Amino acid sequence: MSDVRVRFCPSPTGNPHVGMVRTALFNWAFARHVGGTFVFRIEDTDSARDSEESYDALLDSLRWLGLTWDEGPEVGGPYGPYRQSQRLDIYADVAAKLLDGGFAYRCYCTAEELDAQRELAKKENRAPGYEGTCRDLTADQRNAFEAEGRASVVRFRMPDRDCTWNDLVRGEVTFGHEHVPDYVLVRGNGEPLYTLVNPVDDAMMRITHVLRGEDLLSSTPRQIALYEALAAIGVSDGTTPLFGHLPYVMGEGNRKLSKRDPESALLMYREEGYLPEALLNYLALLGWSMGDDQEFFSMEQMAAAFQIDRVSANPARFDLKKCTSINGDWIRSLSVDDLIARIMPRLADAGLVSNPPSVDQQAILKEAVPLIQERLENLKQAVGMVGFLLVQPEEFTLEEADAKAVLGEDADETLAAAITALEALPEWSTDAIHEALKSALVEGLGLKPKFAFGPVRVAITGRRISPPLFESMEILGRDVSLARLNSARSVR
Ligand code: GLU
Ligand code: ZN
Repeated sequence: MSDVRVRFCPSPTGNPHVGMVRTALFNWAFARHVGGTFVFRIEDTDSARDSEESYDALLDSLRWLGLTWDEGPEVGGPYGPYRQSQRLDIYADVAAKLLDGGFAYRCYCTAEELDAQRELAKKENRAPGYEGTCRDLTADQRNAFEAEGRASVVRFRMPDRDCTWNDLVRGEVTFGHEHVPDYVLVRGNGEPLYTLVNPVDDAMMRITHVLRGEDLLSSTPRQIALYEALAAIGVSDGTTPLFGHLPYVMGEGNRKLSKRDPESALLMYREEGYLPEALLNYLALLGWSMGDDQEFFSMEQMAAAFQIDRVSANPARFDLKKCTSINGDWIRSLSVDDLIARIMPRLADAGLVSNPPSVDQQAILKEAVPLIQERLENLKQAVGMVGFLLVQPEEFTLEEADAKAVLGEDADETLAAAITALEALPEWSTDAIHEALKSALVEGLGLKPKFAFGPVRVAITGRRISPPLFESMEILGRDVSLARLNSARSVR
């Protein structure tokens, strides 16, 4: 075991999104690469925005993805509890110590006063931000505000010097002290803010490396300063974690991918039948590369290869097409049995197989799934592609638009000829079916293959796009195939 400790610490608001998973993945891979510890912490101190559904969805998502955590909810660990809503006493205690030590102070400014300050700064072309009004109040001044009944926030006293750190991704980063004003740690109603609880927990949980999105870059100078204060009051062990800020993930049209973009919703991928392996594989490419241009790899391979110096500081573009194509690659890489197992719940939900499937259904799937494996982009499509092989006779239907396009009047002669040829067939096999139809329709009727087989395909599979036709007919058997061809004749 190495001493490396990283954390993934989302707030449970809304639905999990891919940007969040990318952060979790990079931390996970970093920890796994060195045999360190991956801590999962829930930052749920904002009771107005946090929800239990969202908490459940987070745990569910990490489990689905296979991003296992070593410490955290439901797993426990030496630095628990790992839900911040259960640590409020700790934060109150730390805030009191920071006040006592003079690292923080009570600020009595009202929202209106702060607004007025900001307006004035704007007018005078100065950087807006808290101007330190309450930094050095005397006891008398404080008492007077208290007597007035003014609420107070707890504000951190930023040191009057610039902050520089060596970012693991971006190299040396400096913030001038004039850009980092004193900031609020605890609200007027006593609620501790992210600004306090996140570094306090990182310190207490002995986090050694903070890998997180670039959007948090500007909180780093504040946190580094707070760390020094935490060391002074004995909350941290004196070490400040190393920070690495992962590049932005961009969506369509040079904008940051946002929670509102449909392709950012993690659960969409599960519903549509993306494999967790494929989604992680794709997300790994958003800011990291394996080297030697390898773009298809497992999480074990990623963990084995992961090094933070291969993370790029340049924005990464989220490309749903590429993600889908990697999903197709992953689907093709599965064994037939594995693919069947992953498709099965969807077939059962659609009422196409029993749960567990019968021996006959199993046999059909063993033959049918290899026929579609090549062309699947996601698992959801499988239901439409193999459904016609499993459906009960009375429930078989034709896609309306396809039937309309292909089963017009002139199809009748084609279907009739196909039926005659197939009825006479001594042996029911893919090759025999192919031969018989070719000679009856292409040679016999002089049709181009497209016009010869199109009506047969729609009659048999219900669709113009289907798995290979003759194989499908072999799987369906002679009786069902002939029945479908006959009933397609009466469609018009
Ligand atoms: N709860 C914060 C967020 O979800 C964590 C940020 C951090 O990693 O420091 O944005
Ligand atoms: Zn103030």
